Amino acid sequence: MKNPELKADIIFTAKELGLDFIGIADAKGYLKEDYVGNKPQDVMKRCNSVIVFGLSIPKGAYESLPKGRAEYTNTLLAATVTLRIAGFKLTKLIEERGYLATLAPSEGSEFGYWYANKETLKANFSMKYACYLSGIGSYGKNHLIITDKFGSRIRMAAILTDAEIDPDAQSKNFMSDKCKECYKCVEVCPVSVFSIDDGKIDRRKCREYMFGELGGLRCGMCVKVCPL
Ligand code: SF4
Ligand code: SF4
Repeated sequence: MKNPELKADIIFTAKELGLDFIGIADAKGYLKEDYVGNKPQDVMKRCNSVIVFGLSIPKGAYESLPKGRAEYTNTLLAATVTLRIAGFKLTKLIEERGYLATLAPSEGSEFGYWYANKETLKANFSMKYACYLSGIGSYGKNHLIITDKFGSRIRMAAILTDAEIDPDAQSKNFMSDKCKECYKCVEVCPVSVFSIDDGKIDRRKCREYMFGELGGLRCGMCVKVCPL
């Protein structure tokens, strides 16, 4: 067992802070051949663990879409702020135990997903992959993580640390087996971001739609229609 006391403290504190889920991934998981994104080790050279955690987003924020885009966006950003504060406290807790830790930006923050690499629109490392590695969920056709309890109505952030902490068990499937013959998210997307043929996503179209046509308000339709 690696650092069981630290792991227990992190999980206890996460619950106290009101987080809805938390998982610990072995950073070595990002060195597997099937992972093609940026790596946490490129951010923190001696990164041993990626701690990913998050909140569920209230269902009402999706019910009101597309008319209630401002309400939806505001609800998402409230989650982003909450995650930032909770993540900062967890980062301090880890450093108090003698390790290095840094908090990666949650989706929706001003330093987040869309900003890390303007060419690829990929983040410095994938938090969704950490969710897969630590058993929080699997990928849906909407390219989001599908959790058992909240579907893809979630917001997440992550901490990189040099602490070696026992990782949680990986999700059984990389792609969720719950999507089956459903294509609702693919069909509803107003700018046809998802390709049915090869399962790929065109991030640029999604970004241009939200930050161009919608003036920065979030769309969320591919989450709203998801029955999970
Ligand atoms: S958020 Fe909207 S534009 Fe972006 S992928 Fe989902 S449905 Fe398409
Ligand atoms: S809308 Fe359907 S296909 Fe898309 S993620 Fe949800 S279950 Fe999967």
